[in-house]
Amino acid sequence: MTVFNFGSINIDHFYRLPHLPGPGETLAATGYDRGLGGKGANQSVAAHRAGADVVHIGMVGPDGSGRRELNGFGVDVRFVGTEGRVTGHANVHVDAAGENMIVVLPGANHEQSLTLLKSALAEARPGDHFMLQGEANLGAEAAALAREAGCFVTYSAAPFKPARVAEMLPLCDLVAVNSVEAQQMAAHMGVTVDALPIANLLITDGAKGARWRGDEVIDQPAFAVEAVDTTGAGDCFIGTVIAALDQGAGRAEALRRGAGAAALQVTRPGTADAMPTADEVAAFLD
Ligand code: ATP
Repeated sequence: MTVFNFGSINIDHFYRLPHLPGPGETLAATGYDRGLGGKGANQSVAAHRAGADVVHIGMVGPDGSGRRELNGFGVDVRFVGTEGRVTGHANVHVDAAGENMIVVLPGANHEQSLTLLKSALAEARPGDHFMLQGEANLGAEAAALAREAGCFVTYSAAPFKPARVAEMLPLCDLVAVNSVEAQQMAAHMGVTVDALPIANLLITDGAKGARWRGDEVIDQPAFAVEAVDTTGAGDCFIGTVIAALDQGAGRAEALRRGAGAAALQVTRPGTADAMPTADEVAAFLD
């Protein structure tokens, strides 16, 4: 089966600084790294490394940066277009204590195209998986098209966008959030988290683990590891879970693989680069 992901693609620029700059201050960085990022691209890489065939649908700038990197990871980028705006990117400033300050330019991510999505979904078969995230600018339209194509639709409602919830929820088979986003969603809808009207809700809660609430409740504790960088842990978790479901695993097994992958991912610096392979996760869980 195939996992289709209608998602953002960013280039992350990391600047190590002695301290975070104040207004008007010019500061020399003590180190620099560049890597693929964006919730969409992170989830595509995680699912691919977990063994899924992943087709990414997205948009990058005319120089093709972001698409090149995603292709380098082995993700199918035939439906990643190029547009007039620059590839989305994030400037991440990190001080000596690990505190950060992030500026994100969505750029071409805000030009995601339903035409490209329709071309990609022409290849979909009933039962394929479809993922999208809060960063997508065409959420409800995209989810509806994926549903029509017979896909199982998973929405990572991050970042949380209140205006989108009501239209998105009926179109999703699974909604994935962290505990903060779950609270935001519940407060917005005037209910408790337990009463959120969602058929399948997956809530991750950092080192405390994750809970799938559907026709049954499955709790998956996190694995105890020495975390060095938790950026992208949620994307790693959900990408791995969807890849496992796509490969026919049951929900409990999918969650176990997700937690194993995310535990490995947080022990490494970086986001997409830090996603573990299926073999690494199997060895960890063994
Ligand atoms: P991010 O926004 O940093 O990408 P998130 O807030 O979406 O992450 P979390 O809930 O922090 O996601 O983490 C997702 C999953 O990753 C958790 O359910 C857990 O399995 C794993 N995880 C996160 N942090 C740790 C940790 N410190 N140790 C072990 N596992 C962790």
